[in-house]
Amino acid sequence: MNVRQPVLFVSHGSPMHAIEPSAAAVAWASEAATLAAPAAILMVSAHWESQLPLLGAAAQPDTIHDFGGFPEALYRLRYPAAGAPAVARRALELLRAAGIDAGLDATRGLDHGAWVPLLKMWPEARVPVFQLSVQPGRDAAHHLALGRALAALREEGVLIVGSGHMTHNLRDWMLAWRGVTAEPYAEAFRDWVGARLLAGDTEGLLEWERQAPHARRAHPTPEHFLPLFVALGAGEGVLPRRFHDSLEQGVLAMDAWRWD
Ligand code: ZN
Repeated sequence: MNVRQPVLFVSHGSPMHAIEPSAAAVAWASEAATLAAPAAILMVSAHWESQLPLLGAAAQPDTIHDFGGFPEALYRLRYPAAGAPAVARRALELLRAAGIDAGLDATRGLDHGAWVPLLKMWPEARVPVFQLSVQPGRDAAHHLALGRALAALREEGVLIVGSGHMTHNLRDWMLAWRGVTAEPYAEAFRDWVGARLLAGDTEGLLEWERQAPHARRAHPTPEHFLPLFVALGAGEGVLPRRFHDSLEQGVLAMDAWRWD
């Protein structure tokens, strides 16, 4: 018997969240502990970009270490969850039924946007996992439509998790490490987004690139923000709740949200 699942959005942070003490990781784990065991997990990660929406359909996805210059211990980590190729095919049907052209990729593994949060949320890796790619060449409305089309999976026990970032300017993050004090733009941006999420103002959110304060600085490229729109589309109908809001180096907002 599948239990209807909520929808989550997490800001996944640097891969170091997998091995260092982290308030965000504690929040992810606490939230996961409140959920009934999902039948499968769909991770919508900023680290898989494609022109056409693609669904990972490997029976046993590899753990991809898609980052450089980190400690050796990170490269030894694996997330050995099974894939969910049948659910991926079902998701493909839902997208096509909604008039969205999409495809399957039977070779794709799990990138760190997927496996770092999962390692903290379900370290036993017993729930099958598959991914959906983002399309940085397409707008927020396209990603909202992806989420709306996939919302039916929730009734089938599938937990949908958008994995990106509330703000993601890595240049500012590096400068902050070197002691350059950041302007408080990240808080202004996330406050704008948060107010609209809490007001159910989807139309306003779709205008984020034109209307949100410091949008271009918060997201010099959009791929880390787009998973939020997939989560919003899948969670529509209720107002979300924020369950985490740390700010790394004053510039990297780690906000996490949940739609029940
Ligand atoms: Zn990332």
